[in-house]
Amino acid sequence: MALHSAEALGEKNPDRPGATDREVYDQVMVPNYAPMTLIPDRGEGSVLWDTDGKSYLDLAAGIAVSALGHAHPALVEALAEQAGKFWHVSNLLTNRPAIGLAQRLIDLTFAERVFFANSGAEVNEAALKLARRHSIEQHGEEKTEIIAFDNSFHGRTFFTVCVGGQQKYSDGFGPKPGDIAHLPFNDVAALGEAVSDRTAAVILEPVQGEGGVNPATPEFIRAARDLCTRHGASLILDEVQTGVGRSGTLFMYEQLGVTPDILTSAKGLGGGFPIGAMMTTAAIAESLQVGTHGSTFGGNPMACAVASRLLDIVADPALLESVREKSALLRGELARLQDQHGAFECIRGTGLLLGAELQGPWRNRARDVLRQCTEEGLLILMAGDNVLRFAPALTIGDDQIRRAVGILGDALVKTADP
Ligand SMILES: *Cc1c(COP(=O)(O)O)cnc(C)c1O
Repeated sequence: MALHSAEALGEKNPDRPGATDREVYDQVMVPNYAPMTLIPDRGEGSVLWDTDGKSYLDLAAGIAVSALGHAHPALVEALAEQAGKFWHVSNLLTNRPAIGLAQRLIDLTFAERVFFANSGAEVNEAALKLARRHSIEQHGEEKTEIIAFDNSFHGRTFFTVCVGGQQKYSDGFGPKPGDIAHLPFNDVAALGEAVSDRTAAVILEPVQGEGGVNPATPEFIRAARDLCTRHGASLILDEVQTGVGRSGTLFMYEQLGVTPDILTSAKGLGGGFPIGAMMTTAAIAESLQVGTHGSTFGGNPMACAVASRLLDIVADPALLESVREKSALLRGELARLQDQHGAFECIRGTGLLLGAELQGPWRNRARDVLRQCTEEGLLILMAGDNVLRFAPALTIGDDQIRRAVGILGDALVKTADP
């Protein structure tokens, strides 16, 4: 069924009067995305229905965002309640949901101060700006170097994309912000050589999500912590993808025996409502005085009301325990699939952020497998051309996990010989 807009568009495109919605998309959008053909209509938990009424098991969760699945009643209620009061006042005024959420994050983490924005890139941008400013204030104009890692991903603002470790994403936009070094991930020796008294910050993901579901080794993270402490640099942990329960603890740093100086969270934090939080210590926060940084929408009461309700649910030890159990189940099912078909070189990741690296006839064909899964009613993710990525809602049912891996098995068989 075409939308009304399709007819309106038809006037401008007389050659395509009966265009489908997806065809209209290509006519009206900047061509930076290539979405699948299905168009979602409604969802419930880990199931999504498209506009034709076909259902899909959702192990993509909007790229690790819909932490409680679709249309969770508690989140719908929190949103509706705040929507009936007021939607937005900017940071010229504060609001109770924002204060409450900041207090909650402080109670649940190492942090003493919180800054809100609306996305992962924005909170990483804030973290990098804060780390630079703090370093310059404490140690002088020379101490500005940012150390990041190959294949890392920190967002698409120009600073964050240049800090990210995939040059193809930052090329072609003209002069880049400087004094950013990229090192091989998990290379303790290279890190030891690189961090110096000129380093302002080291930024890393505990598990590189977009970069292929690559976990940092505990030794590597501990080395980063020690080197930052020794050289007066800030350790920024980007938990935009691993945070808010996805790793099996509220934040993954809790499992690693290190405490960051700055922690960023977004994706799952709003369960689908856009919000990001940068968390830090009171001492470092001092470097963002009035007027030094800001966001019109940051701390929006609807986003904060939803995120507070979500944290009430996700921070429950019983829920976190169930994430670890579901992780073991999904891993076990994928391993069983591996025994049957031999499609995976390895299965890695943590909690409900798992990756399966493809081999044999499936090598570099993650996109084909993903397309076939979609065809069969299963939504999954990829992380590069050779890794299937699974990031379901933390509340996905055990039976849904088993069913999903069954569908994946069929899709692997169908894609083995084209
Ligand atoms: C998704 C992601 C980001 C960027 O978040 P946006 O909300 O898309 O700006 C940053 N860091 C990591 C680790 C991510 O996974």
